[in-house]
Amino acid sequence: MKYQPIQNYINGVFVNASGDQHMEVISPLDGTLLSTVPLSSSKDLDNAVKAAEAAFPAWSKKPIKERVQVFFRYKYLLEQNLKELAELCSEENGKTYGESVAEIEKCIELTEFATSLPQLVTGEVLEVSRGVECRTEHVPLGVVASISPFNFPSMVPNWTIPNAIALGNCMIIKPSEKVPLSSIRLAQLLKEAGLPDGVFNIINGDATIVEAICDHPGIHAVSFVGSTKIAKLVYRRATSNYKRCLALGGAKNHLMVLPDAKPEMTAQNVAASMSGCAGQRCMAASAMVAVGQVDHIIEKICEEARKIVPGENLGAVINKESKERIEQYISQAEQQGAKILVDGRNAKVAGKENGTYVGPTVIDYVKPEMSVAKEEIFGPVISIIRTNTVDEALTIENANPYGNAASVFTQNGGMARYIIERASAGMIGVNVGVPVPREPFSFGGWNESKFGVGDITGKSSIEFWTKLKKSTIKWNPEAGVNWMS
Ligand code: NAD
Repeated sequence: MKYQPIQNYINGVFVNASGDQHMEVISPLDGTLLSTVPLSSSKDLDNAVKAAEAAFPAWSKKPIKERVQVFFRYKYLLEQNLKELAELCSEENGKTYGESVAEIEKCIELTEFATSLPQLVTGEVLEVSRGVECRTEHVPLGVVASISPFNFPSMVPNWTIPNAIALGNCMIIKPSEKVPLSSIRLAQLLKEAGLPDGVFNIINGDATIVEAICDHPGIHAVSFVGSTKIAKLVYRRATSNYKRCLALGGAKNHLMVLPDAKPEMTAQNVAASMSGCAGQRCMAASAMVAVGQVDHIIEKICEEARKIVPGENLGAVINKESKERIEQYISQAEQQGAKILVDGRNAKVAGKENGTYVGPTVIDYVKPEMSVAKEEIFGPVISIIRTNTVDEALTIENANPYGNAASVFTQNGGMARYIIERASAGMIGVNVGVPVPREPFSFGGWNESKFGVGDITGKSSIEFWTKLKKSTIKWNPEAGVNWMS
């Protein structure tokens, strides 16, 4: 085993979980056993909540300008440790080193945003009557929790850690049991940055801990990122326990390609969007709606896809089950009459026979009712659906139950605007294959891609991680002025 067994992190120290149940952490790159992760119990969660509750009074009372100093140092430490963090991310998740570097750079940007929070949470004050003013303050909630998926071991935890903590909360995170190593390094860096013990805690585990988080009376807010099936369970369970909850789910992102699109640029963007992070991005293009005559662009997409080589510029998918599931989708589409233009099945990487690789796959003549057109595949696969008009393309996009992202490739500004107005997704790209909004804009989809109000990052997250206190103050109590006059 390459690393020590993973432990929980409570009150600034690494501790064993109470039971002895654990899972193996295997590298998708080559099948190496990296570590084991404990499957903690509600007793472990209880200990973490107690530590966070004990840390909350002192942490929340610090002025926000003081709290963000930790995140200036944390940002610097992320920069200093970028290479090591990226290697670890690649090892446990299977993405390429370059993709892992981009992930850590995104963590740095997220932290940079958190350091700007003092400028954004100044509250409001207004003299509402003679000598009487109303003012608002953003007040932290208390102990909050964040649950993450496997596909971004560092970035998704960092969607929530810097903002929630800088805003004065104490936090418990539950990393994906498939990629728990990166979070351990984040805890070490937060401590090195000067975060007081108990403000940040990690409880490792599976569904049992997620359920315990939703039920725990000491936890006031739950953020979740993962598949739609589990997002619904978490949202229902947390809110039924009267907690605020924001649960981000899966996606099926549609890319609409119009005949006037720039062929080279479009092909490069489509290929990069569908294959980046081995297609395991909630923002990946999964279905391409080809409007009219775009054969010349499809040819170029295939050319670009053939340049993407597993083990070189394409990482592995998370595990064997995932590889089998993705390959089954491709085979099923073939059986149903779709045409496989580039086939990524049975990909092998010399010297990494135990790695779980799927090559880039382009499937043409997909019908909207086929499973590859409707379901989230989460692999480097693009399904091309042919239509004659933009309105037909929009009907297909609107019919999908998800709503994370949609993109259009065109040189016609009016047409792009027409599609922006009608696509049913929270994040839209125009000539952009992965339309992730950058800070300070917020990240969040619509429909079955997100449950709850607001977004998880950017300015929108302030509302989620704080509550508003409104004060009405009469500064001239001796004056006989009615406060409404
Ligand atoms: P997942 O839903 O299987 O797991 C997410 C988390 O839920 C993990 O921490 C896991 O331990 C926990 N979990 C799993 N089963 C559970 C259960 N029955 N009850 C309670 N908790 C449970 O997701 P994943 O496979 O790790 O990640 C991939 C999914 O995440 C994809 O669907 C992807 O689209 C989605 N995702 C969405 C976004 C977004 O912003 N919308 C971002 C990243 C990933």
